Amino acid sequence: MRRVLVTGGAGFIGSHLIHDLLADGDAVVCLDNLFSGRRENIEPYLSHEAFTFIEHDVCDPIPSMQLDQIYHLACPASPPHYQFDAVKTRKTNFHGTLNVLELARTTGARLLFASTSEVYGDPEVHPQPESYRGNVNITGIRSCYDVGKMDAEGLCFDFMRQYGVDHRVIRIFNTYGPNMRVDDGRVVSNFVAQALKGEDLTIYGDGSQTRSFQFVSDLVRGMKLAMAKDGLTGPINIGNPGEFTIRELAEKILEAIPSSTSRVVFLPLPADDPTQRKPDISQAMSTLGWRPTVQLDEGLRRTIAYFEAVLRGQEDGSLGSVSRMDPAAV
Ligand code: NAD
Ligand code: UDP
Repeated sequence: MRRVLVTGGAGFIGSHLIHDLLADGDAVVCLDNLFSGRRENIEPYLSHEAFTFIEHDVCDPIPSMQLDQIYHLACPASPPHYQFDAVKTRKTNFHGTLNVLELARTTGARLLFASTSEVYGDPEVHPQPESYRGNVNITGIRSCYDVGKMDAEGLCFDFMRQYGVDHRVIRIFNTYGPNMRVDDGRVVSNFVAQALKGEDLTIYGDGSQTRSFQFVSDLVRGMKLAMAKDGLTGPINIGNPGEFTIRELAEKILEAIPSSTSRVVFLPLPADDPTQRKPDISQAMSTLGWRPTVQLDEGLRRTIAYFEAVLRGQEDGSLGSVSRMDPAAV
């Protein structure tokens, strides 16, 4: 039985990863301060004998434990969440990753670090290969996250060169699915919740900016393959190359919810919002044999089903039963 630590495991992606690791027969420790994650996301696993939850901030020294693998995800990922306390986000990226790397060093565990396509900033190269060094605004409002993640990536490589820590860095592109919070703030969860509630869909800017949306099950499969691959250091892109404008995304979601009375409204574009984003996944395909399999229409269908259940639960006051739902069953 492998002993696996998932930092940020009560969050959206972490909760799906834990589901699959437990199904594989791993013993899983989830470490999370519940800043943007939710206890409800890990509720189905709390009674599992191979699961342990430690409510803890990665910026504080991490209790010693025996480990074979560490998936380091702890960091708020939604712009409103990571900009809420930018200094804390930067600390989480630096001090948090430093603490996790020290743990990897002392335990000899293999580490996977969840970096982001944000390190490419507002990219001038399209699609983005891992060799592209990016176009970030060092002093801008996204810097606590994108420069923070760049610094954490660099720290992983320093620990490898200096102490031999076995790490791999993956760069995750926009991922969505069940277990996102209704108030997460990212575009898919906002639009789906707005469409289901009959509220206007809030397009920032003119909606011509693009993103490439990956369903969470594809990501989790890619993360596990990256963890299993001997000698991989990365960075390696994990994303779905299907590229859509934000206006197209809004139209797709309204089409998928024909009963919705919502319309779209246009609000100011936040500063430094990248104009385009699409992963070059040649490396993931050749090195890991990985490619995404869930396309946007199908992923949205599953996500909408989840949000419908959550919103229904909020209305009838039975949110607990919805939150305990097994995300893989949606
Ligand atoms: P999320 O906000 O749902 O999950 C992040 C988790 O980390 C939450 O449970 C939160 O409570 C926890 N956390 C935050 N700060 C912490 C701290 N100081 N100590 C302990 N726990 C802390 O976001 P997510 O979408 O699940 O993202 C998970 C990881 O994947 C993040 O590192 C994020 O940067 C990365 N990522 C996600 C995406 C995406 O599209 N979802 C894209 C690129 C990278
Ligand atoms: N966005 C939007 N309306 C929303 C939330 C986001 O138009 O309610 C836009 C946002 O400006 C960006 C894109 O959707 O251009 C993706 O935003 P998200 O926060 O999901 O991810 P990120 O910008 O980090 O890629």
